[in-house]
Amino acid sequence: MHLTLRTSLLAAAAQLACGGDSGSTDSDAAATTTDKTTTDPTTAPGTTSTAASTDTPTTGPDPTTATTVTSTTTADTTTGAALDCADLPLCEDFESYADGAPPDPAIWTVGAPNCMGTGKLAVAGDQAHSGARSMRVDGGGGYCDHIFIANTAAITGLGDQVHGRFYLRLTDPLGQGHVTFLTMKDNNDGGKDLRMGGQSQILMYNRESDDATLPTLSPTGIAASLAPTPGLWTCVEFLIDQTQGQITTWVDGALVPGLRADAEPTPDLDQQWYNKPDWKPTLVDIKFGWESYAGQTMVLHFDDLALAAAPIGCD
Ligand code: CA
Repeated sequence: MHLTLRTSLLAAAAQLACGGDSGSTDSDAAATTTDKTTTDPTTAPGTTSTAASTDTPTTGPDPTTATTVTSTTTADTTTGAALDCADLPLCEDFESYADGAPPDPAIWTVGAPNCMGTGKLAVAGDQAHSGARSMRVDGGGGYCDHIFIANTAAITGLGDQVHGRFYLRLTDPLGQGHVTFLTMKDNNDGGKDLRMGGQSQILMYNRESDDATLPTLSPTGIAASLAPTPGLWTCVEFLIDQTQGQITTWVDGALVPGLRADAEPTPDLDQQWYNKPDWKPTLVDIKFGWESYAGQTMVLHFDDLALAAAPIGCD
């Protein structure tokens, strides 16, 4: 995480991204002028933030948590609720649709690139994180059995810091084979997707262009990620710093070391990711669904999908 020696080699500053600062910025009229990029790094909310490991004090705190448990402002609430869903560039709770319907076609395009098979999705009332509905995906086991909802408008308007938050409920454990449940098209990588999904039974990222994984799927790398518990809602938050070429990920509010690419290649973690050292995504859409490359089928649900230019939190 030291900038000085690495910058020229990597062409990417290894600053710690400000993933842990208050989520109370930007979207609330009562917010102070404090900007998310300059928020005092010592005020990281949550549980484990500490300055001890932060060697880039000019930026945000050690992003050990993106949750917005506390806020430094007084007018805002002290939780992520400061970011009202309605104020976010993208926020979808699936509550305004009928069971069995697709989500709003003005917001979401339902589709399957290249080919279409058995995969299907619809708003459903059999599970919900918020309210009474979520989006159910019945994902097939073949590549062409994939199905996604896609939004292009929100992510392109965010700027360099892409903060995402969604709730995921898997019916079954992730298998050994590679699967994807979230993809973002990267116009700076030949239009190929940055994918989030599973392999080796854990959450991981995959870069479509070269099949790199984050973490590296070695025993050490696998141990640095985690496996969502089937049948439970899991809050996933991510920050993609497009300028720095960095990824930070939190699951249920806790930083996941194996799902972090911090521009300083680390064996078993993000070294493979930076085999493409100039990786700096330009994300132009976000898609939620299911795509399977080794046969695994899955019934999965998504709820409370959100994108913003600041941390969103799990609330
Ligand atoms: Ca809901």
